[in-house]
Amino acid sequence: MGILDRAIANSVPVIPRPIVKRISSRYIAGDTLDEALSTVRDLNEQGCVATIDVLGESTESKADAASTLKDYERVVDALDEHGLKSGISVKLTGLGLDLSEELCRANLEEIVEYAGERGRFVRVDMEDSPYTEATLNIVRDMHERHENIGAVLQAYMRRSIEDVQRVIEAGFSVRLCKGIYDEPRSIAYKDFDTVRQNYIFLLDELLKGGVYVGIATHDEFLIWHALRLIHQLEVPEDRYEFQMLLGVDEELRSILVGAGHKLRVYVPFGEDWYEYSTRRLKENPKIAGYVARDVIGNITGKLKR
Ligand SMILES: Cc1cc2nc3c(=O)[nH]c(=O)nc-3n(C[C@H](O)[C@H](O)[C@H](O)COP(=O)(O)OP(=O)(O)OC[C@H]3O[C@@H](n4cnc5c(N)ncnc54)[C@H](O)[C@@H]3O)c2cc1C
Repeated sequence: MGILDRAIANSVPVIPRPIVKRISSRYIAGDTLDEALSTVRDLNEQGCVATIDVLGESTESKADAASTLKDYERVVDALDEHGLKSGISVKLTGLGLDLSEELCRANLEEIVEYAGERGRFVRVDMEDSPYTEATLNIVRDMHERHENIGAVLQAYMRRSIEDVQRVIEAGFSVRLCKGIYDEPRSIAYKDFDTVRQNYIFLLDELLKGGVYVGIATHDEFLIWHALRLIHQLEVPEDRYEFQMLLGVDEELRSILVGAGHKLRVYVPFGEDWYEYSTRRLKENPKIAGYVARDVIGNITGKLKR
């Protein structure tokens, strides 16, 4: 990322919301379930599978968590009704983890059971570090009763190599990503190359341990290493998939699909788009250009009027 891009990325929180919405619309399927279904249909036609994330507001009460649960049940019903290839991705804070672990476990079990009866997989996203331990424990326990659940490990976390051993013992599927939250150096690697090296190390261990891995990255250097490991370790097709975010590097996506790899696209939708959008914009290496084009386009548009 260039200096200007980095400066703009750091100032994303002060960019006016309408601009954030316009330039981040590529990362979000829309406000409604219908828009998400239409995006998943397009992806399926392009040879990709999907996982749907309902962008929810912060969960401050039992009723908020219950409403998130119902939203996900509606998603599962709609996927069935339209015959689409997609699972769902949930966040445990959305299901009430901040309110009570017991409540969260009960909500998660309900959605996992509901999805399982309909042949759908539930991926539990990994949030910031205060939730790591509880999230992994909950997924491990739930996996003892339901096969259609998996977790996420973040390559920037120093603890992840130990978590890999736990995952191998428990035998649940993992999405491996670099990690998006701003964690302190005491618990997370901060150096770009070290995170990359750790990603390769963790992926190697997971694949050797027979874990089904969702290789979630747009970093072509890591994708090359993943392809190398798949080749060298003779990993069968049913033990891995690639995963990418909606709106990011569609060219690389079609290269992987064209080469015959399973590829899942993360499809967020919902009215609560702001936090997700700002996280994506901060990662976008061309953010300064997008912001400038949007602002200039708006000004010239107004001058013409
Ligand atoms: C399917 C999926 C699920 C994820 N789930 C989680 C999760 O549960 N918890 C979590 O902490 N993190 C999650 N992440 C985010 C992840 O941790 C990284 O922050 C994110 O994927 C960027 O890292 P990268 O590996 O793509 O490498 P980067 O080095 O960030 O990106 C590599 C290249 O990809 C392109 N690129 C990346 N992001 C953008 C963007 N926004 N716009 C345009 N181009 C871009 C650029 O060309 C960049 O040079 C998920 C990522 C994916 C793909």
